[in-house]
Amino acid sequence: MKKIFLLLALIALFFGCKNEQAQTKSNSILTTTSILGDIIRNMVPEEIEVINLMGPGTDPHLYKASPSDYVHIREAQFIVLSGLHLEGKMAEVILGLDGEKKVKELTSSMTTEQIINSDGFADGHDPHVWMDVEIVRWCVLKLKTDLIKWFPEHRKAINERSEAYILKLGRLNREVLSILNEVPAERRIIVTSHDALNYFARAYQYEVRSLQGFSTAAEFGLKDVTALVDFIIDRKVPAIFVENIVSDQALKAVQAACQERGFEVALGGSLFTDALGNENTKANTYEGMIRANAITISHALKN
Ligand SMILES: [Zn+2]
Repeated sequence: MKKIFLLLALIALFFGCKNEQAQTKSNSILTTTSILGDIIRNMVPEEIEVINLMGPGTDPHLYKASPSDYVHIREAQFIVLSGLHLEGKMAEVILGLDGEKKVKELTSSMTTEQIINSDGFADGHDPHVWMDVEIVRWCVLKLKTDLIKWFPEHRKAINERSEAYILKLGRLNREVLSILNEVPAERRIIVTSHDALNYFARAYQYEVRSLQGFSTAAEFGLKDVTALVDFIIDRKVPAIFVENIVSDQALKAVQAACQERGFEVALGGSLFTDALGNENTKANTYEGMIRANAITISHALKN
């Protein structure tokens, strides 16, 4: 059924593109995740509309494109993806349109040294790059050139806004480093539901463990829970963290299992991993979510 739907969507998209070339939106950028949408919004002036497919709190690993998403894709002239297979099947569809439309992946400028390899994910690459602010800063710097090519009439504004954002990200990185450095080395262990923090771990010198591996779509069993409980008790981990895109049930079970074995581990709070927080939270921007995560981690682990 899903395959039939995807096929129909592709056919609709194909004919739509052929017949409605003139109707594509020339003054807007289509993006996928809420994090990516906010980054692009910071780079371009108000006159350029940023259309975001996945709202705050939406898990990109499990996201299924809706018929209205395909309308947006059909109408778009400029599309930016996060990349490294984060967007799954939808990325395949969009990348297949490169040529008819201008398509760019935020992560396409990353060097092999910057990319973290992992057997657990498609093509062996971990897509959660936004967890390292310095890498985002690098990607923004590179993407600026493409956006200026796409919108030459907005060259000055894109350049000014992107440069200001690059400076802001530099300040953010220094700020989170100083917050995270408050945690003593032996307590720098972050346990979460899924493995979204490997870039974070490398950048800010933390160790990470998760229940599900690199994708929230991965199944986990009793063996995984037991292994994680053993690890938490063995390393005397003070707190574990739920995520805004994943149910907290599994980690609550891990907490209960630790308690049964006589070890108290706290729930350290919720981390914003693969999506921004809702409008009414401080994590409703990329900058806000990174700062909120640093404060939550530091607060839960330092004492
Ligand atoms: Zn993820």
